[in-house]
This record gives sequence, structure tokens and C-alpha cells, in this order.
Amino acid sequence: MKSSHFLSGLIALLPLLGFAQKDNSVVLKDLTSKTQKYGDIAHQIWNLAEMGYLEEKSSQLLQKTLSDAGFAIEKGVAGIPTAFIAEYGSGFPVIAVLGEYDALPGLSQQAVAEKKSANKAAGHACGHHLFGTASTAAAIAVKDWMKKNKVKGTIRFYGCPAEEGGSGKVYMVREGLFNDVDVALHWHPGAQNSANAGAALANKSAKFRFYGTSAHAAGAPEMGRSALDGVEAMNVMVNMMREHIPQEARIHYVITDGGKAPNVVPNFAEVYYYARHGKRDVVIDIFDRIVKAAEGAALGTGTTMDFEMIGGTHELLPNLTLQKLVHDNLSKVGGMTYSNEEKAFAEKIAKSFGYGKLDIEKATDIQPYKEKARAYGSTDVGDVSFAVPTVGMRAATWVPGTPAHSWQAIAAGGTSIGTKGMMIAAKTLTLTAMDLFKNPKIVEEAQLEFNNRRGKDFEYIPLLGDRPPALDYRK
Ligand SMILES: [Zn+2]
Ligand SMILES: [Zn+2]
Repeated sequence: MKSSHFLSGLIALLPLLGFAQKDNSVVLKDLTSKTQKYGDIAHQIWNLAEMGYLEEKSSQLLQKTLSDAGFAIEKGVAGIPTAFIAEYGSGFPVIAVLGEYDALPGLSQQAVAEKKSANKAAGHACGHHLFGTASTAAAIAVKDWMKKNKVKGTIRFYGCPAEEGGSGKVYMVREGLFNDVDVALHWHPGAQNSANAGAALANKSAKFRFYGTSAHAAGAPEMGRSALDGVEAMNVMVNMMREHIPQEARIHYVITDGGKAPNVVPNFAEVYYYARHGKRDVVIDIFDRIVKAAEGAALGTGTTMDFEMIGGTHELLPNLTLQKLVHDNLSKVGGMTYSNEEKAFAEKIAKSFGYGKLDIEKATDIQPYKEKARAYGSTDVGDVSFAVPTVGMRAATWVPGTPAHSWQAIAAGGTSIGTKGMMIAAKTLTLTAMDLFKNPKIVEEAQLEFNNRRGKDFEYIPLLGDRPPALDYRK
């Protein structure tokens, strides 16, 4: 009797399992059919190439796409005109998909396989046009599936501006916009398909401004005090400091204003600094020492100094419960196949790096799952990962071997390779969100792991302090 009960239970379950698979294939097919549509949207944002906090049209385009699909839009959140939240549904679980859309200054490139400027002030060298669009595609696909199957819960898209140095998400976290979120999903364009536990360095950045006294540099140098001297003295001290900081730290700077003419003693100079390390406490310590160097430089050069905090982000907190789920879904979705035209483009790009041969399996395959990854970049997703269980992945939107922030990344991101890679991410995030809606147990497990990793005594202190969003940092 018992075994027949078990059997009938199993028989009853079989169509359900089949249904789940069919469910997935319907959703994936639907996303595939919208490749062109989302490719066009991404291309528009690629063309706009708007920098951090200036992404008005890009943000507007994604807002319209989501509102046309039935999402309620709340714009201008956290005091940032280009930040927004799009929402569908209500109640538990609340699944958030993050999207970015800012471009990088000083990099401009056409969608061709040789270095050729597009004569623009900025370019999508980090592929955030794909990031924002694929996340939008995923949010809409999840919503359509929820509506069709009367699934309970909330799907949200977070429109996150100014990732590149602007720390947009930090203000959104500080504002409490993630307080009721259960899981946050994100991804990033890359040169391979992988869903390893991501790593990122905590980061603090600031602009140091020195003020001196102008005078004729030849006629009356004794009357002048050079603000540029202040910057140079500071840089010398910080460069000496490099020998005495923990391994794996990173410090970099650019002089954003060094005076205007050699025959005028500069009365103003500015240097823009980043300090990074895998642990935010180390970053805080290094940053304080950089400030001391700036103070010493001002004292020694007879100038005055002040500084403005620009960005500050936490390191990434991994969540392996979610990471395994994303890896499984990425494996289900699979990599891409290049057309002959794409392959010819990719081979040319590979040659531009001096690679003899194109590492094509990085685009066609899924990288094996690893619980630890090394990475030296930073992301404001770090702060989200300390607010709610967060998980991400990478898709091969760029030719294998391409680093971020290169002309080759802009080029591939503007072609069908970028679009194909983006759709791998859209599909993976969609399947993952569906799993979370179907199995609230995974959400609970992820929450448990999150609480353990974050620690009982965790208190969120934004590394950029209480400053308002640096809306003009790219102006
Ligand atoms: Zn970047
Ligand atoms: Zn990026």
C-alpha cells in the first residue's frame, strides 16, 4: 500500500517536473525571439555613451522599456536624477535585478576590429550598455512569466547610475532602498562565461585640491606659492608609502589640474586618488595616510589643501548558495556560437592584443565553477552585497582575452558579439529569479549564509561618509 502510494506520488510529480522544464524553455525561447529588440536598445545606449550621473537618455530609455512592459517606475531615487526603481508584483520574495548604464571618459571607439575613434567624449569600455539592457530584459521576462503563471512575489529592476567612480549604488543602499529586498542579482560583461564567486576590492577615492599664490614664474617667483608643488610633493610621499602598505593594495592617481601656463605660478592644482584593498579596514587606514601626506605637502609648500570624497565602496560579500544556482543556470543556457563574420572580427581583435590564436572556447563554453576568484577591480555592488544576499556572473560580451576599459571592449560591445553575450546573461538571471520564486527555501538558505558571512555585529558605514551624491564628478 505504502509503496503504491509512493509510486502514485511519483507519477503525479512527473508531469510537474516536465512542466518546469517546459516553463524554462518557453521563457528562454521568448527571450531569444527578443534578441534584436534588446540588441537595438543596447546599441542606442552604446551610441549615447553618457558618463556617470549624466545618463539621462540612457536611464529614460530603460525606464520606458520597463514601463511599457507593465512596471511601475519610481525615478530620481536617493537624490540622483538618473537612478530609478521599476517594480512589478507584491510581497515575498522581493527579487532585485541590478542594471548599470554609464560610460567611461577618455575612451572612444567605433564598432570595428581596428583602433578607430568615434570622436566622442566617452565610450562603453565596461559594457554597461549591455549590463543595463540585459538586466531589463531579465526583469521583463520574469514579470511575463509571473503574470502568466500567477506567481506571487515582487520583481524589481534597480536603475543604478555612475558605477565608474561615482558609487551610485552606495547612495541607494544608504537611503535604505534595498531594505526589503530578499536577493539581488547582477552580472557584468566580460571575456568569458563564468559564475564564480566574484571578488572585488574595497575602494576609497577623493579629489585633493591645493591652493597657492599666483605670480610671474620668472619675474617674481619669490612672491608665488605653487599649488602644483603641493600636488607633486604629495605624490612623492604617497609613492614612497607604497613600500609600507599591505600586499595586494592598489593606489592610483591622475593630476586633473596642474596649472595652465608655465610662466604663471599655479594658484590651483588638483589630484584625483583611488586607494583599494580586499578589506575595507585596510583601505580606510591607507586613505587616512594619504590625507596625512596631502597635509604634509601643503605645509611644506606653503599652500593650503582640502579634499572632497568622491567614491567609496565595500568589497564583495560572496554567497555560495546563490552562486551555485547561477552556475547551474548558466550551464543550462550555455555559451554562444560565433557566425563566420563574428569569428573574423574576433580573430582580428585577438591579433590586436598579440595573441596568435583566438581562445574561442571562452565564448562557447562555460568556465568550471570556482568558489574563489581573484579580481582587482572594485564595484559599488559591494555595498549592495552587504545589504542583501547578492550574486552575479559574467558573460562573454567581449572577444576572449579582452580586458575591460579597452578600445577592444567598446568595439565588441557595439557588435552582435556584445548582444549575444548579453542575452546569455539575461537568460541566466531570468532562470535564477524563477528558481527563487519557485523555491523560497533557497532564499532562506541564502539569507542564512548572508547573515553568517556578514557577522552579527555588522554595522553599515558607507566609505564615502555622509556626502550627497557627487552629481558633477564627470562635469
Ligand atoms: Zn569598469
Ligand atoms: Zn563595469
